[in-house]
Amino acid sequence: TGVDGRDDVVSHALAREEELRVETLRSEGCAIALVSGHAEIFGSELARGQSVKIGGGKKVAVFTFHGATIEITGKVEIAYVAGETPMVSYANAHAVLNAKRERAGAAGSSEEGPRVMCVGPTDVGKSTVCSILCNYAARSGQAPLYVDLDLGQGALTVPGTICAAPVDAQIDLEEGIPLEMPLVYFYGDLTVNNPEYYKHIVTRLGALLDERSKANDDARAAGCVVNTMGWIDGMGLELLLHAREALKIDHVLVIGQERLYGQLQQKLAGTDCQVFRMQKSGGVVERTQEFRRATRDRMFKEYFYGPTGELAPASQTAYFSQISLYRIGGGPRAPASALPIGQTASTDPMRIAPVVPSTSLLHSVLAVSHGKTQGDLLNSNVAGFIYITEVDMIQKKFTYLSPCPGELPSNVLLVGNLKWLGLDN
Ligand code: ATP
Repeated sequence: TGVDGRDDVVSHALAREEELRVETLRSEGCAIALVSGHAEIFGSELARGQSVKIGGGKKVAVFTFHGATIEITGKVEIAYVAGETPMVSYANAHAVLNAKRERAGAAGSSEEGPRVMCVGPTDVGKSTVCSILCNYAARSGQAPLYVDLDLGQGALTVPGTICAAPVDAQIDLEEGIPLEMPLVYFYGDLTVNNPEYYKHIVTRLGALLDERSKANDDARAAGCVVNTMGWIDGMGLELLLHAREALKIDHVLVIGQERLYGQLQQKLAGTDCQVFRMQKSGGVVERTQEFRRATRDRMFKEYFYGPTGELAPASQTAYFSQISLYRIGGGPRAPASALPIGQTASTDPMRIAPVVPSTSLLHSVLAVSHGKTQGDLLNSNVAGFIYITEVDMIQKKFTYLSPCPGELPSNVLLVGNLKWLGLDN
């Protein structure tokens, strides 16, 4: 019998360099246990005899370099063993990066460690490769910074943000990346309609990376691993190239698209940035719009209720008079494609516009800014998020959920276009 004495257990024997791909049911998760040998899930090593719970609606791969026996407890959508994976090439990429980390960390060195960026179209496994590289680095005693520039399917905190967090231990398979000190910037939307503002926060992040590496030798040597959006044409490519420069990336890993690889090689010729092509794993599953929406909802839920639903967020009220609401970019703009040819939108992309409270804030996720003055807002990261559950226009107050009880750390809130329908949807 398996976990909790259950008898719905299936055992899988893996030979060297094979992986067991598991898709859980949407409605329930499963438990995965390593019975013998060595195995890892996206670079996080499994401890023998211990079982890991994988939530509903997830897709994972249990890989082994030398062979292992794995047990799955619970019903799953599908579980199969695959012999062909790009894991050895990912491990080789890690070895190249780690050699650079070691050089940079040697006594007396002032070299920068590797700054890596994974790029490619949607659903090629960019976030997964970033996790694998961070886990391998953490397992060899390094603590790289995981930077997520993906607004729609970011791995660190709520969607609509750009953020960074150090990974100093392998990523916990149940709880995700520990976020004791994440650095979060609020963009406020799932897609980039305001490229200037997006670039502005990426540039800010770049300046902070430099400060961090000046202040701390270990951080300098460990470098960073950057996940990006799957938008790779036109403005998407421009944003990638901008991020490459702003974050001083020296290794670009292109996953799963030769065209993008060719384009980047040409554009980056003559710079000291190396472009590598990485194979896409056959295990990466294409996700539907509906699946992506469900993943985003889960990220919001996890933020307010904890990864395993263990938090009870506090419901609080605030009077309109107690808080200041702002929107960056002066409100939703018509996309350029909707304007007559030759005209550009007149709104200043960096304008900070006060927002008058109204019922349209219902179900919005707002950011609590660290900015003290209106002028600070463009450059400040955020302390966290609140979720508006009620707007009372008569008493001029709203009710909100916050993961922390007590007063908000600041009364300056940023409004974007992030909506979540809450637990009931
Ligand atoms: P996006 O463009 O949306 O950010 P992405 O390129 O970052 O996507 P991932 O999120 O890394 O792609 O992977 C897509 C899905 O495939 C995830 O659910 C991930 O867990 C799953 N996946 C990745 N590699 C494997 C594998 N080898 N076997 C099974 N599932 C996998």
